[in-house]
Amino acid sequence: MDISFPGLRALVTGAGKGIGRETVKALRRGGASVVALSRTQSDLDSLAHECPGIEVLCVDLADWDATKTALQAVGDVDLLVNNAAVALLQPFLEITKEAVDTSFNVNVKAVLHVSQIVAQQMIARRAPGAIVNISSQASQCALQNHSVYCATKGALDMLTKVMALELGPKKIRVNAVNPTVVMTDMGRIGWSDPEKAGPMLNRIPLGHFAEIDDVVNAVLFLLSDRSAMITGVTLPVDGGFLAC
Ligand code: NDP
Repeated sequence: MDISFPGLRALVTGAGKGIGRETVKALRRGGASVVALSRTQSDLDSLAHECPGIEVLCVDLADWDATKTALQAVGDVDLLVNNAAVALLQPFLEITKEAVDTSFNVNVKAVLHVSQIVAQQMIARRAPGAIVNISSQASQCALQNHSVYCATKGALDMLTKVMALELGPKKIRVNAVNPTVVMTDMGRIGWSDPEKAGPMLNRIPLGHFAEIDDVVNAVLFLLSDRSAMITGVTLPVDGGFLAC
């Protein structure tokens, strides 16, 4: 499917590594102007080197005020990918306040806040828009030591649906993609141990983890006019994991 974004401006959070980084490159190849937001400047520098012409923004999304200041300077955005997240894995009985606060600040509150700022400017200029939130299969299925992460992604799925409800009349579509394991830095934290990966792989009908491009392709589809009638969905990119 030929998908392109000529004349459109995109903002991708968590763009320094993994899925966010490849999303930036794909949007750029598709003709979009891209603002890449992340919190490690060296990642953004190397991305800008690989992807000439992108704009970069170094901010910690856990900091509400810094995020507001940074985004107000960004200006008009047509496409938003809320990708940044943390996965702080702890057994339920050992969960710390710090892990809960950081996880909800980045995985939920920042998505809400960034989306508010972006949607407000879309509405002010009466422009249509598309927002994709990167959720997880963990939003809908319990995973060992993932209580906080699962809770944040469950909240994100519901936030996606309510945003779709309230922003639809303003011609802003909001969807989520829910990947299975992808072997990025984050994926390696939870799943590089074969003793954990094996049972997970056995629960995936297609028998393998997702590639970064599997997720990026779903994101591009949901950002594009090819999904013009789709809003409020949480789209598994999971090889069938959630179907079973
Ligand atoms: P990575 O950890 O590889 O990359 C995450 C990126 O987000 C990094 O560039 C990181 O920057 C950035 N980031 C994290 N916290 C902040 C913050 N507070 N402010 C700004 N930027 C931040 O993750 P993935 O690419 O694997 O994950 C991307 C998305 O996909 C996440 O939403 C994740 O939950 C989801 N997902 C991932 C799966 C997987 O198995 N990998 C499976 C299902 C969903 P820095 O490194 O500088 O902290």
